[in-house]
Amino acid sequence: MSILRAVPVVTMALVLAGCSAGHGADREPAPGAHPAASAAGPSAGVPVGKRPDRQHAGWRDSDIPVFGPAPAPEKIALPSGGSVPYLLRIPTTQKVAFLTIDDGYLKHPEAPKLIAAARVPVTLFLTTDAIADDPGYFKPMIKAGAVVEAHTITHASLRGRPYTFQKREICGSADRLAGWYQRRPVLFRPPFGNKDATTLQAAHDCGMKAGFMWKETVDKGKVRFQEGKRVRAGDIILMHFRKAFVKDFLGALRAIKKAGLTPALLEDYV
Ligand SMILES: [Zn+2]
Repeated sequence: MSILRAVPVVTMALVLAGCSAGHGADREPAPGAHPAASAAGPSAGVPVGKRPDRQHAGWRDSDIPVFGPAPAPEKIALPSGGSVPYLLRIPTTQKVAFLTIDDGYLKHPEAPKLIAAARVPVTLFLTTDAIADDPGYFKPMIKAGAVVEAHTITHASLRGRPYTFQKREICGSADRLAGWYQRRPVLFRPPFGNKDATTLQAAHDCGMKAGFMWKETVDKGKVRFQEGKRVRAGDIILMHFRKAFVKDFLGALRAIKKAGLTPALLEDYV
């Protein structure tokens, strides 16, 4: 068990690179926002034999890294009080990393198939306005083990907004997701990583257990690291439902594989 500590203040550049605005879900990160380190190589973790190797649109089964079983999860200690902790990684030494996929504006036709074929756990932080046109799109992913969590109604930047506004965005999205998917979220990610003390109080009052940032982002197949050149144990990786979904998803899995880690489910640790 680990004691949670306050996460360091993050720079605006880092925040801006992580989550794009509204429907601009394919916006490029700000130039220089991250070190250009990349782990998206073509060779890591390609399985040999065993699995079927069907050709799909833009990927083959054999493109998916194969992982060993994840270790038995160890729940982290959560502080009590009137607000939720805000984490950019899970404090664990277990050889696991956590893949999270945000927003949901763009519904790539291959994403449900790819997630199911990969057989890895993922957490989806979905914005309800982004998915209201087709909430059913995500159901096959849930059936394959993905867990849906809260990412506001309108993808508003919450920092500095009144408590009532923030609470409506968080509680309202959780309620709506519960209606669509028969499970009310317990985790939360503020759009753009923009939050303040009010956000963490509102999240608590909406029944959330923790808020999350990230340690790595993936865009156009490239993994960008906040520090170092590898995914580290406990890291949370952020990608989005974008046009490059296939490349991003495979790039994230390759980076996890290259680091000697196994994807694990965030909800199992919190
Ligand atoms: Zn977002």
